[in-house]
Amino acid sequence: MLKSLLFVFAWFSFLAVEAQVDYDDYFTDNQLRMDYYVVADANNVVYAIDKMVKEPVWGGRRHNLVDNMRYGNFYFEVKLPETDKVIYSYGYCALFGEWQTTEEALHTTKGFSETVVMPFPKQPVEVVFYFRTLKGTMQEVFSYNVDPKNYFIADARKLPYEIYDVYGEQEPEKAVDIVILPDGYTMDEMEKFKKDCDFFVESLFSYKPYDKYPNNFNVRAVLVPSQESGITVPADDIWKNTAIGCSFYTLNSERYCMTYENKTMRDLAGQVPYDQIYILANTEKYGGGGIFNSYCVSSSANSFSSEVIIHEFGHGFAGLGDEYAYDGGANYPLDVEPWEPNITTLVDFESKWQDMVKKKTPIPTPVKDKNIDVIGAYEGAGYQLKGIYRPKMDCLMNTFNGKVFCEACERAIEKMILYYSE
Ligand SMILES: [Zn+2]
Repeated sequence: MLKSLLFVFAWFSFLAVEAQVDYDDYFTDNQLRMDYYVVADANNVVYAIDKMVKEPVWGGRRHNLVDNMRYGNFYFEVKLPETDKVIYSYGYCALFGEWQTTEEALHTTKGFSETVVMPFPKQPVEVVFYFRTLKGTMQEVFSYNVDPKNYFIADARKLPYEIYDVYGEQEPEKAVDIVILPDGYTMDEMEKFKKDCDFFVESLFSYKPYDKYPNNFNVRAVLVPSQESGITVPADDIWKNTAIGCSFYTLNSERYCMTYENKTMRDLAGQVPYDQIYILANTEKYGGGGIFNSYCVSSSANSFSSEVIIHEFGHGFAGLGDEYAYDGGANYPLDVEPWEPNITTLVDFESKWQDMVKKKTPIPTPVKDKNIDVIGAYEGAGYQLKGIYRPKMDCLMNTFNGKVFCEACERAIEKMILYYSE
């Protein structure tokens, strides 16, 4: 009973927070883009503001302005300075955060360009940045005061590239808006890129649960050509002059294909309203990557492209963790519940998919043929063989064998679709 009362109380306080933030009271229809640098090594980080840009259309949500999911290793809040009232917040991950876990970061200091976007405020606000500590708590790391009247806030540059309306005709605030950017497609390959965008949409809606939500997505593409065809592969001495500079061997991992040219990517994305950025890399080489609420990349001409597109979007859009594990892999502290909705250390299993597990199912659940359709907690996930658990023996966040998401992933994706579009 106490528990249910607490639940009711929590629900009402959630509603109360929501009721207090009316979009039109605080924000215009524009988008504020804040570029900053981080200079980091494994243990230290310095944030430095770069510039602010006023973009034509806020592509994000007008409800759920305060992010109660708290996913991601980073987080920012937009506050009213006089009252500390939070009028917008957003969780995300960042490439530099992943780099901080590499061997290189133990002996090197490196700089990264990063960006966050938010609805454009009508009055002066404070933007406060947080990072997630190893204990799972959020710690403030940087704050910056924004006066919307500051004349150094630049107008967005209109770039001379055609827009291809790939899919959907919903209002941006009622849909998940995906912008697709081409990398390594020359002018002569733009028709191929358009076909690859159509393939992206076909792929998306061929998987559960996306197939249930055809009216909750808009997909647009910016037709920016590259000087050269293909994608950079440093270890093979293949260097390509491309529009967004994607490269295999990101963080020295062969299949990891991301870009360090953040501002170029954001200039291009900002040509249309967007919630999610997806780069299609024109290569047959297997690879890609997805960083939660930052951006995704997938190679577009590999035989697994459909699966890679959907797997990476699971990371980038829904905050799903990888459900695979390997010898020597280590990433998560085992005494803390990870924030990703589809993996658990069992420290707080109740906050995950425990409600979907049948009473008779043992936890941990043994990997046996008879359990292939059973939702439980199977050891081995988040790159670690021990102490971290996944919902099902297989899932698209694990292998591409079954080509379906487990029920916990499906539920997390649905929750995110509705979060953006309701
Ligand atoms: Zn899953």
